Amino acid sequence: MSTQHVQRMSRLMAKTLREDPADAETLSHRLLVRAGYVRRSSAGVWTWLPLGKRVLDNVSRIVREEMDAIGAQEVLLPALLPKEPYEVSGRWSEYGDLLFRLKDRKGADYLLGPTHEEIFTLVVKDQCTSYKDLPVMLYQIQTKYRDEARPRSGVLRGREFQMKDSYSFDVSDEGLAESYRLHREAYVRIFERLGLDHRIVSAVSGAMGGSASEEFLAPAAAGEDTFVDCPSCDYAANTEAVTFALTPVSAEHPAIEEVDTPDTPTIETLAAHLGVPASATLKNLLVKVDGEITAVGVPGDREVDLGKLGEHLAPAVVELVTAEDFAGRPDLVRGYVGPQGLDKVPYLADPRVAPGTAWVTGANKADTHARNVVCGRDFEVDRYLDVVVVEPGDPCPSCGAGLRLDRAIEIGHIFQLGRKYADAFGLDVLGNEGKPVRVTMGSYGIGVSRAVAALAEQTADDRGLCWPAAVAPADVHVVAAGKAVPLALAEEAAAALAAAGHRVLLDDRPGLSPGVKLTDAELIGVPRILVAGRRSGDRVVELQDRAAGTREELPLDEALARLN
Ligand code: ATP
Ligand code: MG
Ligand code: MG
Ligand code: MG
Repeated sequence: MSTQHVQRMSRLMAKTLREDPADAETLSHRLLVRAGYVRRSSAGVWTWLPLGKRVLDNVSRIVREEMDAIGAQEVLLPALLPKEPYEVSGRWSEYGDLLFRLKDRKGADYLLGPTHEEIFTLVVKDQCTSYKDLPVMLYQIQTKYRDEARPRSGVLRGREFQMKDSYSFDVSDEGLAESYRLHREAYVRIFERLGLDHRIVSAVSGAMGGSASEEFLAPAAAGEDTFVDCPSCDYAANTEAVTFALTPVSAEHPAIEEVDTPDTPTIETLAAHLGVPASATLKNLLVKVDGEITAVGVPGDREVDLGKLGEHLAPAVVELVTAEDFAGRPDLVRGYVGPQGLDKVPYLADPRVAPGTAWVTGANKADTHARNVVCGRDFEVDRYLDVVVVEPGDPCPSCGAGLRLDRAIEIGHIFQLGRKYADAFGLDVLGNEGKPVRVTMGSYGIGVSRAVAALAEQTADDRGLCWPAAVAPADVHVVAAGKAVPLALAEEAAAALAAAGHRVLLDDRPGLSPGVKLTDAELIGVPRILVAGRRSGDRVVELQDRAAGTREELPLDEALARLN
């Protein structure tokens, strides 16, 4: 290992805070700010201070190594993008208020990229002409922009954030399946190396379109997703997927009426309108509009202002469906929307019931809901999980044990997009028989900055952050607990550790009590803490393991040998 640099806390651009920031709602937000990793610049926009930048870089490095290992090639596309490709795909309007839009001096429309399917499709269209140029997998680690309705929870949900996004291009469905599999396996390795506890659940594709899609969820109380989880086997599913895993039997569904549902509101605005807690996280729910039960979908990214719903509905009366509404309505079932939200509010309609009555919420087309759906006739329930009413304790469809409902953070999302974007942009290559072949695509995202916060959520304890070694901002935090002799001993330890290739944070700040320094060390969360000067004389130091909370006194040389 090469010699590392010793970062002195006397020079470090990071102040620890005794108090939690006033607006902090989640553990990671509080701790990352208090420990001096990040500072808020504006709503949902963050400055990464040196300690935070190191963690972010460590996460990026691991992601990069695993993407390179599956043969994906790193590129860097612009974040400032012209409107036209997003008009071609329909997302210029579909994304609604989520897009940051701007104009150049000539009045031309631009956006700040929220995700890059369109632009990657164009890059490949420009570069690849023959089936021999494929398959290809491209990725970037880049700043993304989404004008989230309610940026909160610190870097967990930013309006500017770091994402690793990759895209695969294949000539055949089998090729796409293989690219998808490679990504899925790389993601498992990435999250394992990061030390993130995670589950893979099948998911709805939302605004991305396409067919197969899975989410990587990191269980954490601060998460905004709810999923069912089996304590006895590895079964896990997104509560959304539970009702959405339908595939059309044929393209024609004569009896189905597509009902124009008003522009979909955000949960927050809807919740405010309904006078229920804003922390609700449900994505689809049933409400009564002028006494008629109707479904309101809040699909994926398409978070639209309730003002628009108001316009559509005015002067309708919108109220929540209550348990009484379910009497005599066997077509409706109760759903569970998570511990922070509208506990036990009915929000799902059972797609298995008789014709003419069922609503499938969040059906296959934006801004519509399908009425008169008959399962079997119109849709095959391909991954019907037999859990429509999801209550904690319901039997696991795979082993029968009682299911749990847990909160989680979405840290990754992989999609088999199919030919949606290739169709939109006419992305063909010349096939081996000399005829053009339409390319099929996948897209794969990891929230790199979000992963930092997710890790903080999962690993922190009541004393502060507690990083896994792979991402920690340093390997060893050396504390000089006192002046003169302790400081000299700490300097010696830091120099020796750095020479042996360890990344060292040295608390050499003058005029601070050992107690303050040790409290800060625990807050900052480097895995090993070496304290010089707790014991007087004879080169004895204390070695602490931050996660285990153990401490041990031993001569400096032994401590160094232990760390090497
Ligand atoms: P969410 O459901 O949390 O809004 P998403 O489904 O909109 O996320 P994707 O479009 O699937 O996000 O983007 C890929 C990944 O980017 C997500 O899995 C997540 O880890 C990360 N991500 C998305 N939005 C944000 C954000 N606002 N801040 C930080 N990371 C984000
Ligand atoms: Mg999502
Ligand atoms: Mg989103
Ligand atoms: Mg997603």
